[in-house]
Amino acid sequence: MSTYRITAIEDVLERAPKASVPPSSKISEYYGDLAFTVSAMREYLTEEAYEHVTSAMVDGTRIDRKIADQVASALKEWAMARGATHYTHWFQPLTGSTAEKHDSFIQPDGQGGAIERFDGSLLVQQEPDASSFPNGGIRSTFEARGYTLWDPSSPPFLIGQTLCIPTIFIAYTGQSLDNKAPLLKALNAVDKAATEVCQYFDKNVTKVVATLGWEQEYFLVDKALFNARPDLSQTGRALLGAAPAKGQQLDDNYFGSIPPRVMAFMQEFECESHKLGIPVTTRHNEVAPNQFEVAPVFEEANLANDHNLLLMDLLERVAQRHDFRVLLHEKPFAGLNGSGKHNNWSLGTNTGVNLLKPGVNPKTNLRFLTFFVNTIAAIHKHADVLRAAIAGAGNDHRLGANEAPPAIISAFIGSKLTELLDAVEANVSAGKMSPDEKTAVKLEIGRIPEVLLDNTDRNRTSPFAFTGNKFEFRAVGSTANCAVPMTVLNTIMAQQLKDFKVAVDARIAQGDKKDEALLKEIQKLIKESKSIRFEGNGYGQEWVEEAAKRGLSNLLDTPSALAVWEQKETVALFEGLGVLSAEEIEARTEVELENYVMKLQIEARVLGDMVTNQVLPAVMDYQGDLLANIQGFMDVYGDSKAEGMTKPQRGILEELSAGLSATYASLEALRNERSKVNDIENLQEKAKAYAHVVKPLMDDLRVQVDQLEKVTEDGRWPFPKLRELLFTR
Ligand code: ADP
Ligand code: MG
Repeated sequence: MSTYRITAIEDVLERAPKASVPPSSKISEYYGDLAFTVSAMREYLTEEAYEHVTSAMVDGTRIDRKIADQVASALKEWAMARGATHYTHWFQPLTGSTAEKHDSFIQPDGQGGAIERFDGSLLVQQEPDASSFPNGGIRSTFEARGYTLWDPSSPPFLIGQTLCIPTIFIAYTGQSLDNKAPLLKALNAVDKAATEVCQYFDKNVTKVVATLGWEQEYFLVDKALFNARPDLSQTGRALLGAAPAKGQQLDDNYFGSIPPRVMAFMQEFECESHKLGIPVTTRHNEVAPNQFEVAPVFEEANLANDHNLLLMDLLERVAQRHDFRVLLHEKPFAGLNGSGKHNNWSLGTNTGVNLLKPGVNPKTNLRFLTFFVNTIAAIHKHADVLRAAIAGAGNDHRLGANEAPPAIISAFIGSKLTELLDAVEANVSAGKMSPDEKTAVKLEIGRIPEVLLDNTDRNRTSPFAFTGNKFEFRAVGSTANCAVPMTVLNTIMAQQLKDFKVAVDARIAQGDKKDEALLKEIQKLIKESKSIRFEGNGYGQEWVEEAAKRGLSNLLDTPSALAVWEQKETVALFEGLGVLSAEEIEARTEVELENYVMKLQIEARVLGDMVTNQVLPAVMDYQGDLLANIQGFMDVYGDSKAEGMTKPQRGILEELSAGLSATYASLEALRNERSKVNDIENLQEKAKAYAHVVKPLMDDLRVQVDQLEKVTEDGRWPFPKLRELLFTR
């Protein structure tokens, strides 16, 4: 018997839901207690410092040293009043997660004692010895100087006894080494470009912020079962395991009642999120067993992203207290739904307008149409960069697999808006618009408010869907740092809006009235970007064929998706807007390719080890017992009588032997090819070989092992089965 597995399962059966600590008070009474929010700032900062910091948050103005000292001192006081002893600059290295290095507030006072010290210089800048963070060659290790710099637009927060200060991470030469710095630059670019376009409609608009509302999906599995699976604990996904008879066919999990043990966990982590000022509001079961989702109210994109990263960390920590482990991987279980992180995105003005919300009068309708059509045009022109922004080893399993958006980028807008765009387009004319054409177009635009009522029109198979007052980018993976897709989306939107402004101004200069110039440019964009619009079933094979006819890319794996970063148009786009330099792009692509190769390398090794050290011995053991059993029959009953009596044993033995041979052959093929691929020098070639040679061999091996699992005696199977992982709660 596999005692490892049995003990793990017994361990689970003993678990009762842990009573969470639902706070006795109302949420509003503790909400944001652990974040240095605007209200904490008002309480702790001088009037002068408060003004400086809030204007830095809104306009990005510089904070001078004197003010920084005041803020640092207030922060220290605020944090120490809540038990803090340490502080850390919290940053987002290219590994995808977050990093921190804790320093104590304590400074020796030179007389045998110590004082708590935290001044402006420590707040503003740190030099973590972070030489081993991936940097794609930007920083050679002998000059391992990287700085973290305070981002005043995101509030510091407390985790345990540590004050965490959100920062960007840059090399001493100025290049960014993280995901936050480019995001801030992209947000700045889209602010500028969108504000300029807003001037056509309202001179009071001086600022446009990108908004982000993410929806985080995840799986929960019991900790003991998790620990008994080397694949889960080392790669975050099940590399092996036959599909349970009952998966998600019955659709009985989606929005079903939440099991008590899970509920206890959710309550606690929601409470912790609220204390940190993360506005989570939604919780529900997802489609697959043991799959869940959490979503907050949307926020400004930089803050929303910090909150998402913090929440991913929080999920993990609170789960452990409930003897759960969280699986954030995009596809932990083959054959079941994967996990995504839908990025709901829009643009909002300082005047309180959502630019992607359909209007209520002709002027606001035209404004809506402008931003709506420009978004589609941006996606059309830059679909490949947007695809690259969501690439990764995990998401490769999800995109294009059943029940996940395809790897083909397209936009869904619903039937009402499709009719509208068709009608606007139909009234194009090359020269001046006739009064009839104008009336026709205006009439069409007048119908926009109907869209507001049309919220039933949803297409869950689209990677980029308009959902009434925002676009929902669904292809983002559950482990992603949203900063990456948000950097790309806001950059391509900024470029598109800039180009639009130039084109409209040129028309006006040639004598067109403003509205006519806007309309003509909108019509042109509608026409040009038509091929990116798709209203049908994105999961179907027909779409793959149709998309190919339209000339849309279908980049199925990370190495192919990342190739777009090498194109000079891509580099020019990101350099032109000051978001990423050519060198930064090259470095990032290298880090991503390396990451991809390493992930597959680890998976292939873990899989090989599990088969060699656990599966093969367990099956051979079983064979040995069956052989001894048959031998026993022969000893007692003699060969000929025993032959008939041991038919079942022989049948199973033959299946096992055939399965073992096939498994062993697959295992050898994987080992041999992997060692050849590892010798490839060129990183891109190596990544491709992992995608096209090693990965298929891993799949082959899995098929063989999963077959063996079905014929091997249950008690001997060396790790928890998928049905145990998914249905033990
Ligand atoms: P679902 O997609 O599951 O049907 P909803 O449509 O209710 O869910 O909304 C999903 C998310 O969209 C929420 O997290 C919400 O905060 C976000 N959202 C709503 N409006 C905006 C907006 N203007 N900008 C960004 N996100 C938004
Ligand atoms: Mg959604």
